[in-house]
Amino acid sequence: MVTTTIIPEATHQVISINEGSKVSLFANEIHLSVVENIGAWDYNYTQTGTTVPCGLNGVCSATNKCGPYCWSEVIAMGSTTNKCGGTSQTPINLVQVSVDKSLRPPTFKVASGGCDAWVQFADDHAYEVSFRDAGCSNMKLEYAGQEYTLLQFHFHAPSEHAIGGGLHDAELHMVHASATGDLLVLGVMLDVANTPSDFLSMFWEVAEKGSQGQGVPAEEIYSQEYEVEGGSLVNAYSQFLPVSRSFFTYSGSLTTYPCTEGVRWIFFEQPINIGQTDYDKLLAAVKFEKYTITYQNNGYAIPFADNRPIQPVNSRTVLKYSDQIFTADDDEVFYSYRLSIAGVILGGLALLIVLVLCIVMMLGGGSRGSGKGNYGEVTSANTNEVATNEPQKV
Ligand SMILES: [Zn+2]
Repeated sequence: MVTTTIIPEATHQVISINEGSKVSLFANEIHLSVVENIGAWDYNYTQTGTTVPCGLNGVCSATNKCGPYCWSEVIAMGSTTNKCGGTSQTPINLVQVSVDKSLRPPTFKVASGGCDAWVQFADDHAYEVSFRDAGCSNMKLEYAGQEYTLLQFHFHAPSEHAIGGGLHDAELHMVHASATGDLLVLGVMLDVANTPSDFLSMFWEVAEKGSQGQGVPAEEIYSQEYEVEGGSLVNAYSQFLPVSRSFFTYSGSLTTYPCTEGVRWIFFEQPINIGQTDYDKLLAAVKFEKYTITYQNNGYAIPFADNRPIQPVNSRTVLKYSDQIFTADDDEVFYSYRLSIAGVILGGLALLIVLVLCIVMMLGGGSRGSGKGNYGEVTSANTNEVATNEPQKV
């Protein structure tokens, strides 16, 4: 049975950090669904008093913590809604893909420039910025004829997906839902670079100013829940998506328990950069969240990893849209591109023919030249060469 537990807030302070803005600080709230009487769906399975057989990972127990490897075990999670052992799971390694010229990237529809109200917090497994919780539905996208509203975005570190087998430093998930409840997630890789992200700095500033004078322990500043009204305009699409629209797409699942399937994934190929300080805050926000239970090294090099391991692709096909070849809503560009490719091939063939003819002529000419040499009709250069190298023939 899945229930949502809300812990009553201990603190509720309203602070203005910019003119006209209002930031409410809610301490001690929790935003996760927990599985009642089951233990945890966490990344470091810790259910005590129970052992669970878990394939190659042996037996999961309090001392052999299998984390996500236990999620697929119904006995561990105890729920018929558990899809973690399904055949269409996320994340996957995006490696074998088919380019599909009929694909088009999502189109974005942003009303009123975005949202100036949101709720930001860390829960026990991710740092999240929620527009749904603030009642703002101004950011929408249309994909394959269906409209989806951006509910929230959150992060995992290291990345959950791999591209060609390699993980990135972190991964952004923008979670969307259609009016009928279909889910679509935009995924983007994040790489740590030198420059802090202007986009993320908006949220760090809220946490820093919103917690001032409120007695929030320094390590928990980024973990707390802040509800913002009248803040800076957030347009998550224009401010935080890569320039390139090349993407992979496939049908997958949620990457946390109960791993619900039927989720449309649009995964942009180009990573975006964040600063080392952004990355550190994302990790710290989860690490110091009050209800983070079990974040430890999940088989990866960094502590507090919150990425689900790669899942099998099975019979699914990963399709790719490449904006190197296609331009959205402009088939003519594609066809002219194809024509130009044909032109290059024909030009190359013509050049090859000319080269072959030249070689044939040169070989023929050389043969005649040496023959002519026997008749004393060599050029002066040949004469010198013969005189230098083969004096006995003179
Ligand atoms: Zn996620």
